[in-house]
Amino acid sequence: MRQVSWVESAHDPDTDFPLENLPYGVFEASLGPRIGNAIGDQILDLKACADAGLLDALDQRTVAACGCEALNALMALGRTHWSALRERVTELLTAGSAEQDKVESLLVPMQSARMRLPAVIGDYTDFFANLYHATNAGQLFRPGSPLPLNYKYVPLGYHGRASSMVVSGTPVWRPWGQILDAATNTPRYAACRDLDYECEVGTFVGPGNALGEPIPIADAESHIFGLCLLNDWSARDMQIWESQPLGPFLSKSLMTSLSPWVVTREALEPFRVPAFRRDAGDPAPLPYLFSPADQERGGIDVTLEVYLASAKMRATGVAPLRVSRGNFRDLYWTVAQLLTHHTSNGCNLRPGDLLGSGTVSGTARDSLGCLLEYTRRGTEAFRLPTGEERRYLEDGDEVIFRGYCERGPSAGEDAVRIGFGECRGRVAGAR
Ligand code: CA
Repeated sequence: MRQVSWVESAHDPDTDFPLENLPYGVFEASLGPRIGNAIGDQILDLKACADAGLLDALDQRTVAACGCEALNALMALGRTHWSALRERVTELLTAGSAEQDKVESLLVPMQSARMRLPAVIGDYTDFFANLYHATNAGQLFRPGSPLPLNYKYVPLGYHGRASSMVVSGTPVWRPWGQILDAATNTPRYAACRDLDYECEVGTFVGPGNALGEPIPIADAESHIFGLCLLNDWSARDMQIWESQPLGPFLSKSLMTSLSPWVVTREALEPFRVPAFRRDAGDPAPLPYLFSPADQERGGIDVTLEVYLASAKMRATGVAPLRVSRGNFRDLYWTVAQLLTHHTSNGCNLRPGDLLGSGTVSGTARDSLGCLLEYTRRGTEAFRLPTGEERRYLEDGDEVIFRGYCERGPSAGEDAVRIGFGECRGRVAGAR
């Protein structure tokens, strides 16, 4: 039978944060940043719980990690600690809890809280793990060229920039950079015109590995702390000029936005699905990337939605337009495969490192996770409800990502919907 929380808003059928979710985030409090769990429209202050002695039955390292200003220490501890803390917080928030009165005073309304990045991100890697996006982007950037030979053998990625990662709600400045002038075939330094979003999922690394000690595929799951939404803002005109031969650089490092809540691997358990079904002619993953358990349960069924609202839409009270709806299960590589591959040369991952999935697209037009694909590199404009046309983002446009998992054929009928909250950012113009 389903446990119910005494927090009323946690059983609103539309909430992203029922008792079954309990994602972690970091919010500003008067005495500095605090770690909290989202529950309904409230945040449970975990440091306050620790100070009140409510976590005393847990390992002292877990209690200490709850008092930190970022999630890295908790991420480092690993699954046994994560489970024990989740179990205790669930107990505190469940209807009938003997500590309800005490815990009630430690809730902070989410609406008044200012969120921060959940962890100190030491390193950020962005993969390219969605076959549909890789195929479409390849065709649009290099017409006529097929998917690279390596794509179905090696999870491709590049080392991104951690310093410019920001929490949802931070305005995005239109970057300046080198853009090729087609008429003269020479570049000029100008404000980006083809500003785009990329709808991705970020994975926060748990304990990680020592330098020189790869994580075997069979152990990779235990290094997944949790997932968040990620917007890899992209300057397409700069990207096209700079990306050969070393890959993207300043067209991506302008800024990357993250949703403030990290949904844990444990909360996602009911929504696990088989790994992407490869075409009959595709190669099998090399042995170090193959495990039967990962093939069977390596996928995660998360619906991802992209909404767009222009300044005019906001001014006239028009709701944001849903541009696309895709699913994280459409990743050619599982998160475990990305993690194992990343460490396969001995490279170390550390607690709080972040792995971006790459843009998540499906096969239908309304499942394409970036405007590059949706407008076919800006050649096919689409209309907003106000009649405005869009090819790429204009100043004042706000991009909103939402993610959620629902009961369905993959999750049991008794699975409770959980969500990721939002990742939003508004284009503020060029400096
Ligand atoms: Ca990307």
